[in-house]
Amino acid sequence: MDFLVNLGIKPINEGVSTGKNWIPGSSEKIESFSPVDGKLIGAVTTADATSYRKVVNTAQAAFIEWRKWPAPKRGEVVRQIGEALRAKKDDLGKLVSYEMGKSLQEGYGEVQEMIDICDFAVGLSRQLHGLTMHSERPGHRMYEQWHPLGLVGIISAFNFPVAVWSWNTMLAWICGNVCIWKPSEKTPLCSIACQNIVNEVFEKNQVPEGVSSIINGGRNVGEWMSNDPAVPLVSATGSTRMGKAVGAAVGARLGRALLELGGNNAIIISKDADLNIAITGALFGAVGTAGQRCTTTRRLIIHESIYDTVKEKLVNAYKQLKIGNPLDSANHVGPLIDKDAVKQYLQSIEACKAQGGNFIIEGGVLEGTGYESGCYVKPCVAEAENHYPIVQHETFAPILYLLKYANIEEAISLQNGVPQGLSSSIMTLNLREAEQFLSAAGSDCGIANVNIGTSGAEIGGAFGGEKETGGGRESGSDAWKNYMRRQTNTINYSTQLPLAQGIKFDL
Ligand code: NAD
Repeated sequence: MDFLVNLGIKPINEGVSTGKNWIPGSSEKIESFSPVDGKLIGAVTTADATSYRKVVNTAQAAFIEWRKWPAPKRGEVVRQIGEALRAKKDDLGKLVSYEMGKSLQEGYGEVQEMIDICDFAVGLSRQLHGLTMHSERPGHRMYEQWHPLGLVGIISAFNFPVAVWSWNTMLAWICGNVCIWKPSEKTPLCSIACQNIVNEVFEKNQVPEGVSSIINGGRNVGEWMSNDPAVPLVSATGSTRMGKAVGAAVGARLGRALLELGGNNAIIISKDADLNIAITGALFGAVGTAGQRCTTTRRLIIHESIYDTVKEKLVNAYKQLKIGNPLDSANHVGPLIDKDAVKQYLQSIEACKAQGGNFIIEGGVLEGTGYESGCYVKPCVAEAENHYPIVQHETFAPILYLLKYANIEEAISLQNGVPQGLSSSIMTLNLREAEQFLSAAGSDCGIANVNIGTSGAEIGGAFGGEKETGGGRESGSDAWKNYMRRQTNTINYSTQLPLAQGIKFDL
């Protein structure tokens, strides 16, 4: 496995680092097994309280220096990281695919997202604009500027083991912050590879030790960061359960939390849909990354007049799916992340049946040659109703629920009728329906698409969702403002001291 060597991954790796210094942590190690073939890829050591504090102290010292670098100069360093990622795209894409289990094309796609966000951040480093206002007082000038925030803690999920870190980090860096990354314990080796890539660029540019840190470990390490007042912003991606815990801990100390949590995304298929687009979008949305995207399509809300046609087309499309090693480009669907995920998939199928669901494409675990890891499952489809508890819940696996509707108001109400609010879409060529779906009375999600499925967002837009998805926004648009503190400045260049609101204070 050349890509492991090329990325500097050893059988046993230190999992805690402030840059070129790798810090011995606790004696506990995380072993990373590939869901592709069940083999041990490597192990990492984890942070303990002492190494955690060392990382935070080094990061604090680095921030004192880094915040003084002009933003475009920080942008130049990020530009070089983008170049380094281009050079390592093949190796890193393979590691993502092998450690996480997504298809190789999706692994490359994830690295491409990292490159794209680097490019975006480089341009942004010259555009951290504030506003100017007209003062109500003569001889006064008023404006607003954005300053770096400090330490940004990043907690990431297994399913996007590198891209989500880069969405946060590249923006946070150009904004003048230093970052501490707590990667998913299911994909620790991806963090070692990223840190190695960054270290090389940072060393060349004499970036202070501590601007890029990683702290591998379980949820307890994430909890230290959530509770630590030294970390003004915690950006956490993962389940709603995790987000509620992180949000409460960060909120209790009045810190800032940026939460990117679970989704329960639906596509409305109108009677006026282009069915070729609709079926392709639904299929990719439901089975891509084996249903382990936060934006995975979990519900299809289909107009009653075309329900049977859509059902038939779906059954035909599902029959053609090839499930197997994701590094082989002939396969469409790879494995789930681990056996725990397989257990949850099976439990959800049972729950759906018990609640009245009717499977038109049955699920199940694949066995035999090529499926030795025990993590390969069949994507399945059930006719269900929106109110079933299992339909209201995000199962991180390729289970798709079919729902029927009679009019657009009902379709929108079904789409919105879940606790989560990440991604949504309508397939229609009817302008009125499309606009209604996008209007204030339409989708309540952070992402609402027309004639595109729910999954696969571009980095240029702000990414995130409402309700139990957490309300955070990352990546493009003005998401950078999350990583800065806003300051309003008033300058008096007159010879008087007029008070605001015309208040007199005569001595
Ligand atoms: P998870 O919640 O189990 O873990 C995510 C991360 O949080 C891990 O690093 C974990 O160690 C840490 N963590 C867990 N509990 C914690 C706590 N109490 N305090 C601090 N840290 C804690 O999620 P997962 O299984 O890795 O990922 C799947 C979930 O992530 C799905 O729900 C998916 O929808 C969501 N997700 C959301 C987005 C988004 O942008 N909205 C993107 C990717 C994944």
